[in-house]
Order: sequence, then C-alpha cells, then structure tokens
Amino acid sequence: MILLDGKKTSLKILEEVKKRVAELSRTPHLVVILVGDNVASRIYVNNKKKAAEKVGIKSTIIEFASDITETDLLNKISELNNDNDITGILVQLPLPEHINRSKIISAISPKKDVDGFNPENVGRLAVGMEPYFYPATPQGIIMLLDEYGIKIEGKNAVVIGRSNIVGKPMAQMLLKRNATVTICHSFTQDLDNKIKTADIVVSAVGKKIVRCKMGNKNSVLIDVGIFRDSNGKLTGDIDFDFVSPDCKYITPVPGGVGPMTIASLMYNASKIY
Ligand code: NAP
Repeated sequence: MILLDGKKTSLKILEEVKKRVAELSRTPHLVVILVGDNVASRIYVNNKKKAAEKVGIKSTIIEFASDITETDLLNKISELNNDNDITGILVQLPLPEHINRSKIISAISPKKDVDGFNPENVGRLAVGMEPYFYPATPQGIIMLLDEYGIKIEGKNAVVIGRSNIVGKPMAQMLLKRNATVTICHSFTQDLDNKIKTADIVVSAVGKKIVRCKMGNKNSVLIDVGIFRDSNGKLTGDIDFDFVSPDCKYITPVPGGVGPMTIASLMYNASKIY
C-alpha cells in the first residue's frame, strides 16, 4: 500500500505556483468574501489568505454582517467584477439562509470565479469546453493522481457523493480523462459491491462509508471526507485500518485531499484572464 501524500505534493504545487506568480506581469489579487460569523468559515478564509500571501498573491478579505441583504452582496460582487485590479473572487460558503447561494455564485464573473462554481464554468466542463477554473477539490485530486503517475484513462471510477462542489465535478473530470464513472449517493443500492470492484474510488460524503473488503488489490482510494469522530479526532469516509491493506494507493486524513485543495485553489488564484 502506498500513501498518497497530499501534504508533500501540495508543497510542490505551491512552489510551482509561487514561481509562476513571480513571472507574471502583474500580481493576482484574490478577494474572499465572508458573510456572518461562522467560526469554521473564518478559519478557512484566513487559511486561504495565508496561503495566497505565501505564493505572492495579493488577497483581501471583505467581511459583511450576517444581515447583509442579497442586493447589497450582489452589488458588491458587481463592483468587484468591474474592478480590473481584482483577478479572483471567492464567496465563502455557507451563506445565511436569506441569501440565495445560486444567485450569488452566478453573479461572479466566470473569469474571476476561482472556485469554479459559476454555472458557466460548470456548464463548460459538462459540455467538454475548457472552464476558466476547475473546482479546487476535484482538481487537487487529479493533480495528486497525476503526481503519482496513476492512470485514469480506461479505469472504472466510483465517485461517492454528488455535491456541486466535489462529487459532480469530480465525476465530470474523471470522465474528461476517459474513466468509466459511476456516481453513487444516498439512494444507491449495493454500494459495497460498487466500491469493491472499482479501480478508483473517490469518497465525498462526510460519514464513515467505505469499510468493505476491497476485491481489487490495485485500487486507488481517495478520501475527501473530513469530520470529527465521537472522540473529537479528525477522520475521513474511509475506514483506513480496515481497507488500506487491500488497496494499492490511499490518501490519509488529514494530509491527503485537504492540503491539495488549498494548493489547487492557489493554482486557480494565480490565473489572470
Ligand atoms: P454534501 O454536500 O453533504 O454531499 C454529501 C453527499 O454524500 C451527497 O451527495 C449524499 O447523497 C451523499 N451521501 C450521504 N449519505 C450517503 C450514503 N449513505 N451512501 C452514499 N452516499 C451518501 O458534502 P460535500 O460538500 O460534497 O462534502 C463531503 C465531505 O467532504 C465532507 O466531509 C466535507 O467536509 C468534505 N470536504 C473536504 C474537502 C477537502 O478539501 N478535504 C473539500 C470539500 C468537502 P444525496 O445527494 O443523495 O443526499
């Protein structure tokens, strides 16, 4: 079993991004919008700012109280879209309930949508056109597979989870790389049998869901899930101790997909259109 070291690979990618940023004719400027006082969101936003600074990307956090109106937030996004100094815009999710998330994401210019969640970027990926940005988590996973020379073409890939931020774009990106993709979700029957026979499994659920005896010893297991177990310890979707002896490659949690997501986001933030 080989551990797919997301931490090490992310440092390598961040180094490449830093070099690329230094060679650009102007400095990219990422704006991160934070609405409300969600503790986890604040940590994520600060981590993104720190990561940006490390690679030479200018970053600004714009904070709004949780009672900001949808119209005011849309106006701010429109202002940032029209500001030539700003090259990337990211709205930290979740948003308060009175704000329509789709409307906000759709308002971000596709050419500044570093999260790759705008329907134009999603649609481009779906129809086989190049999106301006790929969503960070699945893009980071592809980068990790590529770093380890893991072949995707022709493989049977099982993606567990169908969220707009991970599962669906992951499936699209694996399909783009010529894998045969099965998407599983909470209504999927006989999940274990689908997992057992897969060449590549990407689990993005947020529950301990992968704990079957793998039938394919060459399988590659990617754990996107990250949550705290009953003892407060960070863990993932895959029962690592049970499953890892029977696969070829596996990501740890933490230290797998998490750091790759940040590196991949910085890669996006270094792009200027
Ligand atoms: P999400 O929006 O809650 O989606 C979870 C998906 O899991 C849904 O599609 C759901 O199916 C499916 N699901 C739930 N129970 C299932 C079951 N018993 N069998 C099969 N599928 C099941 O979550 P998300 O935003 O994609 O995130 C998933 C996990 O990844 C979370 O732990 C999150 O913290 C983590 N995450 C990590 C990173 C990172 O960088 N490491 C980035 C993003 C997310 P339905 O659609 O049928 O409800």
